[in-house]
Amino acid sequence: MAVPKRKTSKRRSKNRRAANTKVTPVMLVKCPKCGEPKKAHIVCKTCGYYKGKKVLDIETKLDKKLKKEQKAKDKEGEK
Ligand SMILES: [Zn+2]
Repeated sequence: MAVPKRKTSKRRSKNRRAANTKVTPVMLVKCPKCGEPKKAHIVCKTCGYYKGKKVLDIETKLDKKLKKEQKAKDKEGEK
């Protein structure tokens, strides 16, 4: 009976299997609310809207800045 001369290495077998997989490109659509590119049928990460309704509370950079300033003020008040 014919026998393989060498053991198939991990790399060789994984490479062979990987050749049959396909990488599908991510479908991006423009968010109707903010115009940023987002995945179709998924909540917009930039504004938190989906189907015209607000679903997520997204902290904007400005919100974060205000919070930071507030914290700094609170600390000063403690001293
Ligand atoms: Zn959006």
